[in-house]
Amino acid sequence: MIPSIVRTSTAELYDAHVMKNYGRPALTLVRGRGAQVWDDAGNAYLDFTSGIAVSALGHCHPHWVATVQRQAGELIHVSNLFRTPNQGELARRLVGYAGPGRVFFCNSGAEADEAMIKLARLHGVRKAGGEDGKCFKVVGAKNAFHGRMFGGMSATPQVKIQKGFRPLVPGFSFGELNNLESFAALVDDQTAAILVETIQGESGINPCTPEFLRGLRKLCDEKNLLLMLDEVQCGIGRTGKFYAFEYAGVRPDVIAMAKGLGGGMPIGAVWAGEKAAELFQPGNHGTTFGGTPLACAAALATLDVIEREQLLAHVTRVSVAWHEALHGLAQTFSQHIAAVRGKGFLVGVQTTGDTTPWLTAMRERGLLAVSSGNNVIRFLPPLIASADELTKSVEIFRTVLAAKA
Ligand SMILES: *Cc1c(COP(=O)(O)O)cnc(C)c1O
Repeated sequence: MIPSIVRTSTAELYDAHVMKNYGRPALTLVRGRGAQVWDDAGNAYLDFTSGIAVSALGHCHPHWVATVQRQAGELIHVSNLFRTPNQGELARRLVGYAGPGRVFFCNSGAEADEAMIKLARLHGVRKAGGEDGKCFKVVGAKNAFHGRMFGGMSATPQVKIQKGFRPLVPGFSFGELNNLESFAALVDDQTAAILVETIQGESGINPCTPEFLRGLRKLCDEKNLLLMLDEVQCGIGRTGKFYAFEYAGVRPDVIAMAKGLGGGMPIGAVWAGEKAAELFQPGNHGTTFGGTPLACAAALATLDVIEREQLLAHVTRVSVAWHEALHGLAQTFSQHIAAVRGKGFLVGVQTTGDTTPWLTAMRERGLLAVSSGNNVIRFLPPLIASADELTKSVEIFRTVLAAKA
């Protein structure tokens, strides 16, 4: 028998063998460099998805690649039965950004959120004088997104995410974002924590106002609650500050991080300040892969580049003209654009209709973006994106808007 020389395409392999929980992708990508990626037909794209706010340094940054290659040849994984220098060093670096406290390492945003919710439970036990199950409630925000595991999903009050998975974890209630009274009204003796995204990422780029965050801080202090901020999407420099909450001048008790932290390597982390740093004790939480030497090397390389190339200042500087240009488009094409929101390199453009035709038209002209919530186009350039690349994104967006005007 003559062996078949017909190669199955990647799309066919996906269609036949990969679960259907994601929408069917339009592209097969094979290579990346900086802010650019290439598909299997050789077409180049400006990648303003960054793998959903993950590839902070763009694709294949030389320092990141060299660090990860070196570490892969040295030690990759040993579990938390053992110490490794990289995990210790990464914890030290994150404490340097967040403040005095401790860090727990995991592998994703959802896991960071689960760890955070478990810290809330342990804080509740402490509040209830050691009694389990008495003080366990968490007040979150409407339209929040905290990942797809049971705890975080239960803290994500969206039909499309929760449907089919009941019963959910009990104890969550939801206030209106930026309405402090609505949060205060939900706090009772059984409440252990407040949990919000500093900037809601999946539901259309909705920032907490500084006044609201300061109000939550005060409420948490008065009622002995943990203030838990989900910075999985908006953290690690995406807004031009290392953490988005720095703009409000508050310090939370717990921070969840992931996406940008590893510069493409899966890694998540939870920082807990003094109020929550000692809640986890031997045996009550863990994950096999948490904080491997390889993942921590990738995160250390990411932080190195953010610092050496002064990417926070870069994002702050170049985003001014970029935001101005996007606001300009919103004025010129007000029949298509309702609002422009966000900070730094986390930007949402609210459209007056479905985003799909816009995303498709931009992709056909070499720009990749991603939708968010209802009718919001989300631009997530890598932190290394140049002013020229930002300008190019505006030109492509302008062209597709003008073609439909
Ligand atoms: C993406 C995201 C998560 C979930 O992270 P995964 O790595 O996809 O599990 C949680 N919270 C926020 C705010 C996110 O943007």
